[in-house]
Amino acid sequence: MDSLLKLLDRSASARKALNWAELEETSIQVLRLIYKDSKIDQGTLRTTIQNYLSSIIGTGEFLTDLSSKSSAKYEEGLVKLLEFLRNRPHHFASIESTLQAAQEIVLLSLDPIPANRNKIGKHLREIARPDLSILICNQILEQTRLNYYSLTVLCGAYCDLDQFDKAIDVAELALKFSPEQGKTFPLNALVRAHTLKFKATGDIAEIENALQYGHASIDLKLDSYAANAFIAAAVASGDEREIEFAKDVLSKAEPQLRQADISALFQAYQAAQALAPEAVVVETIDESTDDAYFGVFDSLFDLVVRDEGFTPSVADARKMQERFSGDGWFLQGLSNVPCPTCEIVALHSYRKHFKRYGKDMHYWALVCDNCKTATDSIDYDKKAFSFISSDLEENFPVADLCDVCLDL
Ligand SMILES: [Zn+2]
Ligand SMILES: [Zn+2]
Repeated sequence: MDSLLKLLDRSASARKALNWAELEETSIQVLRLIYKDSKIDQGTLRTTIQNYLSSIIGTGEFLTDLSSKSSAKYEEGLVKLLEFLRNRPHHFASIESTLQAAQEIVLLSLDPIPANRNKIGKHLREIARPDLSILICNQILEQTRLNYYSLTVLCGAYCDLDQFDKAIDVAELALKFSPEQGKTFPLNALVRAHTLKFKATGDIAEIENALQYGHASIDLKLDSYAANAFIAAAVASGDEREIEFAKDVLSKAEPQLRQADISALFQAYQAAQALAPEAVVVETIDESTDDAYFGVFDSLFDLVVRDEGFTPSVADARKMQERFSGDGWFLQGLSNVPCPTCEIVALHSYRKHFKRYGKDMHYWALVCDNCKTATDSIDYDKKAFSFISSDLEENFPVADLCDVCLDL
């Protein structure tokens, strides 16, 4: 069997030449090879998964030609890939969103209404086929010229191909025609396109545009997507005032983050950005997520019901309901420090791995068996929380328990 580097080279050439049969074969060989080695580089794995999915989509007639229903090759290939991954003992956070996108493409293609085809266009970017994404968006736009969602997806796909001027043109069109509450999507797309163009060309006017659109987007609606796009622009600009403002934006968009975490995140992000090649914005920014779609098995609620036999009550604050409903939680352990509310030793700590701007971190959920509540760390008095967290870390070091960390 060829060496890994040689195979990766062959994959890259096959992708360039649109030789899907060759890309499929080399991707399978790479997958076999890297899974024999216990130390796998996440970036290489993600690229390989994208290559394989790209190859089984091939020319993508089942997506572009509405009269053709021949998705069999893609579906079979996808099933094989999922089986292959299921039998491997590793858990990879970096390929989850790619696999979800690949699965959704099948389901959405069964009902090719424009809304579903828009989503297919977005998912095709996730599996590194912006070329097909552009084709599909343009097909939708021929029928509904001012479909601002298609235009926004199109902007992202052009960015993937480094065609920034086209990207900016279509996003401006989307901005012009979207209703007031929808303007946040094209605004965020414009922030990203101008940031990328600045990084490619060094033209100061581009980053000024990016920041201006970023402020407009945040004024309209402050969510984590707007925050991510703005933070990327602020860090790229190197302007201290904008960076300070960006920290404030993040603390409002994600109120569960502590000040110290935010500082650490920015430090890691700025360092990564300084090392990254010219035209790369470190964080890939997505427009939306749809977690519940594929079924969740280890939400915080699932675990507490299973392990402790009750459903904890959760305050409607800091998006806790949403965060606790997501996948990927695990039990850290029982704290020796009593619950500050009922003063009984009954606090179980659950954690969930997440990564921001290149830094690995863990969400908190503290569940009191007696109070029957679950909350993040923000509700606790700072001193009380530091007792709880250091006691837990001493007895149950999180890096030894977290599947994601153990794979890194
Ligand atoms: Zn309690
Ligand atoms: Zn972890």
